[in-house]
Amino acid sequence: MAKDMKTYIDEAESALLHTYNRYQVVLERGDGVYLYDMNGKRYLDFVAGIAVFALGYGNKEYNDALKEQIDKIIHTSNYYYNIPAVEAAKKLKEVSGMDRVFFTNSGAEAMEGAIKAARKYAYNKDGRTDHEIIAMNHSFHGRTMGALAVTGNPHYREAFEPLIGNIRFADLNDLDSVKAQITDRTCAIIFETVQGEGGIYPATKEFMEGVRAICDERDILMILDEVQCGMGRTGYMYAWQKYGVKPDIMTTAKALGCGVPVGAFLLNEKTGSSSLAAGDHGTTYGGNPLACAAVCKVFELFEKEHILEHVKEVSAYLEEKLNALAGECEDIKCRRGAGLMQGLEFNKPVGGIITKAMDEGLILINAGSNIIRFVPPLVIKKQDVDDMIAILQKCL
Ligand SMILES: *Cc1c(COP(=O)(O)O)cnc(C)c1O
Repeated sequence: MAKDMKTYIDEAESALLHTYNRYQVVLERGDGVYLYDMNGKRYLDFVAGIAVFALGYGNKEYNDALKEQIDKIIHTSNYYYNIPAVEAAKKLKEVSGMDRVFFTNSGAEAMEGAIKAARKYAYNKDGRTDHEIIAMNHSFHGRTMGALAVTGNPHYREAFEPLIGNIRFADLNDLDSVKAQITDRTCAIIFETVQGEGGIYPATKEFMEGVRAICDERDILMILDEVQCGMGRTGYMYAWQKYGVKPDIMTTAKALGCGVPVGAFLLNEKTGSSSLAAGDHGTTYGGNPLACAAVCKVFELFEKEHILEHVKEVSAYLEEKLNALAGECEDIKCRRGAGLMQGLEFNKPVGGIITKAMDEGLILINAGSNIIRFVPPLVIKKQDVDDMIAILQKCL
């Protein structure tokens, strides 16, 4: 007899380390903006694996590109060149205007590399090993020790101290709070262009320009985490491109491979030519041919399907609908966000609403206890927005 959903859930709970409180559903396949569980129940997906599956599920060209690469070669080693990695790196340079690319396997690993590059850049200048990094309260940069050290959530950090040390925290969009943390040992200022897990807070133009000016004045590196807000999510390939302010180092992951685990950190020429050198950093899998074939195809499909233009259009519609909902519902404090990275802040916890939405066939996720986050596949249509709003209204 075929195993049912409950059996798989029980088996999962006895085999996997319990680091997530999972929703009681086993997802089996996807099609466009819909996911299906083992029982064939359909869900409209406004999470996309947390801002990952930008192109929608079951994109034939994407799937075929991966299959073709599997039949050629899946892995080599970074001691040799491979064609997909070269093509993917060239494409990343082109869309970002950055100069050097290092491929990783995840967002956290991209952050680790960015932090190492910043420390090495400063070390090359003065030979000191006590440099400091300024990060933001409520930020999220990943769960590895370096990424965790710059994550502005004390609950995530506490049990794992001591982390890498010499990290100071300031507030996003409060330039004075950043200035107050600067010392003669500051080597980098790190933040998400749009804070994700912390509650969907976009950086202001003033803040972006202010940090850039501070960094230029003191030769401090500006590091932008674009792991969640990058890859077209805000209607720009990278969210910082809207501001006319360019980072020295940036990180990308999540939608970069649209489901294949891949990330990258990118450096400008100044930083790239005087930080990590041969022997300073490495990875076995990072930039392997399969992952990079995915990256190449993602960029190709972004162009072919005019994803950036589409996001600008459909996100204006989503904002309008969310604003209307916020106006109708007393429990909603406000909407904020950028493009298809939106949050509705409630004056109460949203866990119950999200569970109800799942029952009704809509997948949503929170960002902090009181905020519903909307990070759907970038290919959603206005009709999908209408369908989502109708279900959400029912659940409120
Ligand atoms: C998800 C996320 C990370 C960590 O990425 P992983 O691939 O989970 O390691 C880092 N920064 C931001 C902004 C993220 O949203």
